[in-house]
Amino acid sequence: MFRNKREFKAEFHRRLVEAYGCEMEQTSPAEKYLTLGTMVRDYASNYWKDTKNETASQDLKQVYYFSMEFLLGRMLTSNLKNLGIYDIVTEGLQELGISYQEIADQENDPGLGNGGLGRLAACFMDSAASENYVVNGNCIRYRAGLFRQFINKYGEQVEMPDMWMRIGNPWEIRKLKHAVDVKFYGQIEVSYDENGDMHFRHRHASHVLAVPYDMPMIGAHTKTVNTLRLWSAEPADVAPRDRDYRQYLSDVEAICLNVYPDDSTEEGKYLRLKQEYFFVCAGVHSIVETHLKNHPSLDNLGEKVAIQLNDTHPVLVIPELMRVLMDEYGYAWDKAWQIVKETVSYTNHTVMAEALEKWPMQYIENLLPRIAMIISEIDRRYCAWAWQQCPDDPDLVSRTRPLRDGTLHMAALALIGSHAVNGVAGIHTEILKNDLFRDQVRLYPHLIQNKTNGVTPRRWLMYCNPELRKLLDDTIGTAWEKDYHHFEDLLKHVDDPSVQEAFLDVKQVRKEKLAAYVRDLTGEIIDPSSMIDTQAKRLHAYKRQLLNIMQVIYLYQRMKRDPSFRIAPHTYLFAAKAASSYTFAKSVIKLINCVAAKINNDPDTRDVLKVVFLPNYCVTMAETLVPGSDVSEQISTAGKEASGTGNMKFMMNGAITLGTLDGANVEIDSLVGRDNDVIFGHTVEELNTLQYHYNAYDYYQQDGRIHDVLDTLINGFWNGSADEFRMIYDELITRNDTYFVLADFDAYVKAQEEIARRYASRNTWARSCLVNIARSGYFSSDRTIEEYAHDIWDLQKLHF
Ligand SMILES: *Cc1c(COP(=O)(O)O)cnc(C)c1O
Repeated sequence: MFRNKREFKAEFHRRLVEAYGCEMEQTSPAEKYLTLGTMVRDYASNYWKDTKNETASQDLKQVYYFSMEFLLGRMLTSNLKNLGIYDIVTEGLQELGISYQEIADQENDPGLGNGGLGRLAACFMDSAASENYVVNGNCIRYRAGLFRQFINKYGEQVEMPDMWMRIGNPWEIRKLKHAVDVKFYGQIEVSYDENGDMHFRHRHASHVLAVPYDMPMIGAHTKTVNTLRLWSAEPADVAPRDRDYRQYLSDVEAICLNVYPDDSTEEGKYLRLKQEYFFVCAGVHSIVETHLKNHPSLDNLGEKVAIQLNDTHPVLVIPELMRVLMDEYGYAWDKAWQIVKETVSYTNHTVMAEALEKWPMQYIENLLPRIAMIISEIDRRYCAWAWQQCPDDPDLVSRTRPLRDGTLHMAALALIGSHAVNGVAGIHTEILKNDLFRDQVRLYPHLIQNKTNGVTPRRWLMYCNPELRKLLDDTIGTAWEKDYHHFEDLLKHVDDPSVQEAFLDVKQVRKEKLAAYVRDLTGEIIDPSSMIDTQAKRLHAYKRQLLNIMQVIYLYQRMKRDPSFRIAPHTYLFAAKAASSYTFAKSVIKLINCVAAKINNDPDTRDVLKVVFLPNYCVTMAETLVPGSDVSEQISTAGKEASGTGNMKFMMNGAITLGTLDGANVEIDSLVGRDNDVIFGHTVEELNTLQYHYNAYDYYQQDGRIHDVLDTLINGFWNGSADEFRMIYDELITRNDTYFVLADFDAYVKAQEEIARRYASRNTWARSCLVNIARSGYFSSDRTIEEYAHDIWDLQKLHF
């Protein structure tokens, strides 16, 4: 492998010619990207091999992180920088007359997720490897990502296929030798042997071959390289006899075709259940195989393996591992159950009833007959046990058992089969303990714990914002790059006017970069000296993009009415994908775009008020959007956002949080104090009381601002059609405003005024941004991973 620039250039040149059979100058940027990616992967392969060998020879425990999503973002720059060969490579390319940026821009974001949940998994992979923990990912190799989002001339979201692997994926390696046979449908034949023990045979099943593709997860400045294993469904060598052969091929193909388009409402689809069992079954099988290579039996599985369930999507791990232990390795129920509980733990990501995963038992009986039997037995044994624990409350059993009225409650199953359950921010965990899982806390008092989310400071600061990284290095040295505690070294400098000025300069550079990006993407010109206020996240009613755009409409109306009222220049940026079936969310996107079209073209206001919707929000966009923003909009209805991680990325890049007391905003607020963020709106406790007497119509009647804003939704003001936004109006008025938008409107307007006032004092503003950066070390996912390793996984570091 190349050791210096000269060797890199020679090898790159040689590989390009050998791979494509033409002169280097004749190869396309995509071919150069693939060649460079392959070289980087091969460079990491020795470390990858060493990591596997050392894990085995040190007999180290390892973690398997099961997640339906890994929203990785581009890998090239991150891998080069983590390996410490970025300078060699970029300089070498330059000497060959090749633009690194052009090559890097060839890479599509891997389409392996929706939003925050998948991005968390990706940050964990980076942190675990960087901290020398052996944490492997297990997921599906989706051929199409969520969707690419366009905005049409009416301002509507249009979805296009995201064929992210079209040009190829240089990071993955197909491992046919580790393929697994997965069985669906069929019947279970029960027999008894001479000892009276039961045996189960799966007859007439439809077989699918799960083929793994491994991607290296490369740690920063270490030799640890972990594995993200992506499973791809392929037709088995025998097709089911009773089904049409071509139907079988297309059924198999469907399993890995597409990411499910929503991580917060359950779509109740068979295919989704198939996807879930598919990657669970394959993943469990490969864990067992690996374990038995180094250990005589599965007795000590829980000592050497931890399985983390990222939300309930992989919860079938629990009955599947039971099945393998009992049916394939002859364990009795109690011993198998003990092993499962030692091994498995579960992370909850939502408390919203409609987002809690449920399946009709009928589906499971049909698709996974043996799994259904095991789930029924888990349920039966749980009921008998729980009834004995709390004889005073016979209803408790029926409230907490996994099977209720023919429906499987996935969270209830996850709870019973795990030795640890965690929430993802302090307030969220409290809601789990006091509300959602209140009953279970009586039965398992120490089960639930908190692990506040984090983000990797490498991708989300060092690599995406090199200007800020340099400022920090120049001010406090480089200790913070390796140890998140040292972010706080910056606190000593927040009052230094020269550091404040330097920060404002960095921010200005990043805002200009963002303005250029916005222009290239949308054609809109934004003023890089205006205050840039950004809300970027999935479009969902509870995240309240609607509240944001209503405030913009209010400002516009007030300026139109009163020529003496003018605000300092503001740019409001939105970026959000709506699930393709989520009509309300799509309507909000259209509203934002219609408001933007009108306001941006009004000569009265356009110098001070600008609204831009950036299509196709993704990790790569966030890497430019976050560093270029002044204000971070985190305005979900209190109690609804489990944690949020967008809030942490903005904070780390010196944006001020404008937010509610929800999710990790609560912890941001405790860390920076009210002088350094702007908090508004009803608290969870206040909403718990308000919900019983809330009347949204009163707000509409009594607040002229709300009245005027809402009337534009039903009088054709934005695009001439009076019914266009009636759905939004009806949600607020007829359906009584589920997410308390109107209840928080006044407070939000005042919060916007407060943040504008603060922005006007440039040096105190800069000081606040610096305090935010200094306190953001807590939100490094290095910290989160340390906590999981210590409190849940009992995991030791790998030593080279
Ligand atoms: C961080 C991130 C998210 C999560 O944002 P929240 O504000 O926490 O919902 C979603 N999508 C992408 C592309 C991200 O980078």
